[in-house]
Amino acid sequence: MSAVLVLMVFFTVAIWETFAPNHPPRPGQHRRWIRSASFHVIGLLVSGLCVPIAASTVVDWAQLHRIGLFNQLQLPTVLAALLGVVLLDFGDYVTHRAMHAVPVLWRFHRVHHSDLDVDCATDLLHHPVEILIGIALYFAQLLLWGLPYESVLVFALLGILSSPWQHGNLKLPVGIQRYLRWVLVTPEMHRVHHSSAAIDGNRNFSAIFPWWDSWFGTYAKAPIDGWSALRFGLAERQNAGDVTFFKLLFEPLGVMPWLRFDRRFFRR
Ligand SMILES: [Zn+2]
Ligand SMILES: [Zn+2]
Repeated sequence: MSAVLVLMVFFTVAIWETFAPNHPPRPGQHRRWIRSASFHVIGLLVSGLCVPIAASTVVDWAQLHRIGLFNQLQLPTVLAALLGVVLLDFGDYVTHRAMHAVPVLWRFHRVHHSDLDVDCATDLLHHPVEILIGIALYFAQLLLWGLPYESVLVFALLGILSSPWQHGNLKLPVGIQRYLRWVLVTPEMHRVHHSSAAIDGNRNFSAIFPWWDSWFGTYAKAPIDGWSALRFGLAERQNAGDVTFFKLLFEPLGVMPWLRFDRRFFRR
């Protein structure tokens, strides 16, 4: 059921951005899409093989052993569920900031930032090691807070909706964006985060609710040099030949000595 919803949301955004794009797509789109889809398949396989338990199992285990704050407090279910969703989104904000700030995490997360264009294919581009780290940190949060299953369900639903949406090459009316970004991370907001300028890349970390960036001083309404000068990807990797499937997959692991080794890949 969730797979059907994921596909429905993803292809709705893909069709929408095809007919009403915010910016003209770069040449070589088919290569980008094949590369991103390949990363997504590998991510699914690796996480399926390495993580044999579901989030619901972690929730059940925490409830059974009364682990985590919420399992001690016994709050009303609705209140616990809503608080849980907000806490999980805050956890995503903290995790995302750590992905940029900690060198060993950045070497994997920067694969997501290597994309030279931003559309819903970018949403699929994550290194499998980043996915495994993300799952481990997510499970740690479930144990820390002892959240009810409803929080996990609503948070997963919001993630399914928001992730392709915020990467979509979507043109929205200015008036709608202005009000929407009070409650939801918009494509425009996340586009700033994918700018090749390092100062922009360290802005707009929020995943679903945009408040965290405002409260913690990381919000940027527009790129530092303006929308017309915005370029995506990493400043030092602006050629498509530098961000091929094999380079992005193996370079972060440091296991491709036969490829030209670029030390800058491991630094912000
Ligand atoms: Zn990022
Ligand atoms: Zn992104």
